[in-house]
Amino acid sequence: MANISLQNIEKYFGDNYVIRKLNLDIADCEFVVLLGPSGCGKTTTLRAIAGLETIDSGDILIDGEPVHERRAGDRDIAFVFQSFSLYPHMTVYENIAFPLRAVGMSNAERDKAVKDVAEILRISDLLTRRPSALSGGDMQRVAIGRALVRRPKALLMDEPIGALDAKLREEMRAEIKRLHIARGSTSVYVTHDQIEAMSLADRIVIMHDGILQQIGKPDEVYLKPANLFVAQFVGSPVMNVADIKLKANGDGATLIMGGADDGFAFPQTALGGVNVNSAEIALGIRPEAVLLSHEQINGAMEVATTNIEPLGSHDIVDVQIGEEVLRARTESGFASGEGQRLWVNLDPAQAHFFDRQSGQSLRSDV
Ligand code: ATP
Repeated sequence: MANISLQNIEKYFGDNYVIRKLNLDIADCEFVVLLGPSGCGKTTTLRAIAGLETIDSGDILIDGEPVHERRAGDRDIAFVFQSFSLYPHMTVYENIAFPLRAVGMSNAERDKAVKDVAEILRISDLLTRRPSALSGGDMQRVAIGRALVRRPKALLMDEPIGALDAKLREEMRAEIKRLHIARGSTSVYVTHDQIEAMSLADRIVIMHDGILQQIGKPDEVYLKPANLFVAQFVGSPVMNVADIKLKANGDGATLIMGGADDGFAFPQTALGGVNVNSAEIALGIRPEAVLLSHEQINGAMEVATTNIEPLGSHDIVDVQIGEEVLRARTESGFASGEGQRLWVNLDPAQAHFFDRQSGQSLRSDV
């Protein structure tokens, strides 16, 4: 097992500045997920750790030792790709045993290592099959088994379940987590799927355009996004963002959006230290914090629905406030149709405030 430290790493492909002074410390046995949209530099970062890609400046340390002089094969790190890349002419057993051929083990030791890893991955009954006779999920289990059999210092995974269908992805997510706990390996995992990141990670590293946006535990990045990018990348449906004005009143502020005459009363405690006189404030509010009711409730504003998305377990209902549209999460069937009059309020405890220009959170507790 190992800790991994990225210190100020930079990478260019020609003029394309792909990793921009990235700093990241991954602890021994930690599961870290690199999350971000396509092209943000996740794979390049992972490949740089493995030694499959060079870096232009900065240092990569494994267990405190700089590794840029060490070739990929000498870093004792295993890599699992999205494409399973199994040897088609070998059995599952031979595929898993393959990395052990140069390790100098006795036959009995090798046999035990393969069978142990097959048991953890629940593929013991598939050892005599060839890859062509396996399902996609089982192929990826074999690929992971082959990566783990040497007991590498760290396991790097690049969208390992991205090619599987939704149901299998869900199953494999749980398996990868179980495997990580069973093996206790330091794991770095790349995905653009925020649900995968939230469910697997001890910590999530969110990247955009080669720039680190935020590092935190899943609930930290969800509840305290550092900027608008993180706020809208994590969570589904995406967080509502609306331009607002805050007008100070006795013990807090009135929040006005969409050019409406009326506003929502926010107590001082919910403002998170935001200066009400800041010029351009964007409110971030998740659909579950947009509260709809059929009756007039004190402090709520009357609105009309503009769209309803029935999703089975719940609905997403759009309501118009002045020129803004907010999406609310409701129980199924809550709104009957477009144009229905409802009352809307916001949960001040779940409000986020951002500087519209820089995108940075204005809350002092983030
Ligand atoms: P994806 O999920 O699409 O793989 P990513 O976040 O993993 O995205 P990278 O694959 O790291 O992103 O790519 C980052 C940028 O570097 C992209 O603009 C990509 O086109 C570019 N890039 C990656 N590999 C190379 C290469 N070998 N040569 C030139 N440009 C590259």
